[in-house]
Amino acid sequence: MNHERSSILFQQAKTSIPGGVNSPVRAFKSVGADPLFIKKASGSHIHDEDGNVFIDYVGSWGPMIAGHCHPDIIAAVQDTMVSGASFGAPTERETILANLVIDAVPSIEMVRMVSSGTEATMSAIRLARGYTGRDKIMKFSGCYHGHADSLLVKAGSGAATFGVPDSPGVPADVARLTLTAEYNSLDSVRSLVAAHKNSIACIIVEPVAGNMGTVPPREGFLEGLREICTNEGIILIFDEVMSGFRVAYGGAQALFGVTPDMTTLGKIIGGGLPVGAFGGKRDIMEKLSPSGGIYQAGTLSGNPLAMSAGIATLNILKQPGFYKALEEKSRTVADGIAKAARDAGYPIYATRVGSMFCAFFTSGEVFDWSTASRCDTKAFAKYFLAMLDEGVYLAPSQFETAFISAAHTESDIEKTIAAAAKCFKQIS
Ligand SMILES: *Cc1c(COP(=O)(O)O)cnc(C)c1O
Repeated sequence: MNHERSSILFQQAKTSIPGGVNSPVRAFKSVGADPLFIKKASGSHIHDEDGNVFIDYVGSWGPMIAGHCHPDIIAAVQDTMVSGASFGAPTERETILANLVIDAVPSIEMVRMVSSGTEATMSAIRLARGYTGRDKIMKFSGCYHGHADSLLVKAGSGAATFGVPDSPGVPADVARLTLTAEYNSLDSVRSLVAAHKNSIACIIVEPVAGNMGTVPPREGFLEGLREICTNEGIILIFDEVMSGFRVAYGGAQALFGVTPDMTTLGKIIGGGLPVGAFGGKRDIMEKLSPSGGIYQAGTLSGNPLAMSAGIATLNILKQPGFYKALEEKSRTVADGIAKAARDAGYPIYATRVGSMFCAFFTSGEVFDWSTASRCDTKAFAKYFLAMLDEGVYLAPSQFETAFISAAHTESDIEKTIAAAAKCFKQIS
């Protein structure tokens, strides 16, 4: 496969953009290759600058659940654009999307729009701190919640991929306020809570971890967090930037029947445009400025183009049978890849929740960051490059989730499984 033009564009980009990319995991560094430059996409396929076409399992890292260039989303954005891209004043669309989110997500009674997932989690944490009057927060090793200072501690994929769990530039005084527990271990949470009695504002968790590969919550884990938070006056935040509208229309909280106090969203609710949101119980959300004193703002928050894309996307997802069909496709492809590995005698540990799935290159169970980090990342890199050569575009890191969209066809899935069978044999 020819990647000549991508390589030239990457060399050019590197002189003007740090590392040639605007977000680190795009750089293909952990698989030892140069990134592909993408020219266009359509449905389940992306096209690079050299004219190669791939079945896409990255989906812009989650947002493209309806497939690329869905006609309803294109029409909505085009329609909005001609009336003005941004006003910095309220528009009706913001209330429409807010109500779609409130109707869908059990914990959300009020919601505020922002422009990225990072902004959503950062703002949710400020609100939790302001509401409780406490400074400490708790997160889980391997969970990623965007790149805000207080959350860039043991933060999964991007950081894990590059082996820098804590970034330079994060003040030690800030990082000290972030306690880190182990995913799926209520014991690790209980002992931190006991050691920091009455000083923890919130526990933030990915209810389905998707930034250390896909790691489902064990039975009782989310319920246990709910109970601990209720007993200790700690705000429970589900970071559903990835899982929201992905594992179910109402997110992981609807799927598992556990209701947090606050929820952060992003990715899918922007339909491919830059959006984030955070919401929760009314008495918490009303503490936000201007109804309350906790400050949060944004020039482009609730942007008309992004709101239109979000509304159009949620209306597609609301169609009866959408998630059932997606689940079926996801099961077929994830099971097919796992079987291909078994048939080749190659040990992998396969996980899946809804349309998120992952093949961990290890034979042992993966249930937290320490078990995920045992994977053979060198073998993954070989597999990744071999799959790319077969026309299948996976995320360029072991510690990422694969996403399938409604636009993936039976033929895409068959080709993917056949490619996996060939690639596992090749690397065995
Ligand atoms: C992607 C992601 C974020 C960050 O969102 P950005 O829009 O990239 O800032 C936060 N939390 C989770 C769980 C995510 O997957």
